[in-house]
Amino acid sequence: MSYQLPKLPYSYDALEPYIDKVTMEIHHTKHHQAYIDNLNKALSSYPKLEKLEVEELLKKIDSVPTEIKQAVINHGGGHANHSFFWKVLRPSEASGEGGMSPSGQLLQALDKTFGSFDKFKEEFTQKALSVFGSGWAFLIFTKEGELKLKRHSFQNSPLMHGNVPILGLDVWEHAYYLKYQNRRAEYVEAWWHVINWKQVESNYLKALK
Ligand code: MN
Repeated sequence: MSYQLPKLPYSYDALEPYIDKVTMEIHHTKHHQAYIDNLNKALSSYPKLEKLEVEELLKKIDSVPTEIKQAVINHGGGHANHSFFWKVLRPSEASGEGGMSPSGQLLQALDKTFGSFDKFKEEFTQKALSVFGSGWAFLIFTKEGELKLKRHSFQNSPLMHGNVPILGLDVWEHAYYLKYQNRRAEYVEAWWHVINWKQVESNYLKALK
């Protein structure tokens, strides 16, 4: 069984006006699909590896054969990162489903680690803006049990380093160029309106276990 494109839990226009329909559609059906196609191609002669969940594959990256390792890092990372990304998004406030912010244990942990939610937002934004070229900003839960902000180049997954992604933002130009052109800061600002905090909190609680 090869890897397949997961369905989005909302429609392509659900994140308007913050993330536009065309960007979402191309991002999902072209970019994400391409990572999956390339991953399947790379693993076609490795049926045992192909059986693993992509997250497991990345956690075990050190035991992946050298000749396909970089392909798994790039395309397996791309598949895992995008599957993760779609889930931490939700329909915008404009569609009447929004207004959520972090609460409970996650909010407490953010307060404790960053001082306040606003401070966390500021620091995360700074990370996202300072990614040079294509990459991601992540809030991760480390092996040592700490929340940390990390920049990752290309599709490098936090899972390869034994870390668990809690929240992540794709800052590749393909994620925002159609609507925001070169204005990454406006995209990042808009993105705060479409975060599924319930999912982020559940990522955190799962990582704690
Ligand atoms: Mn992307």
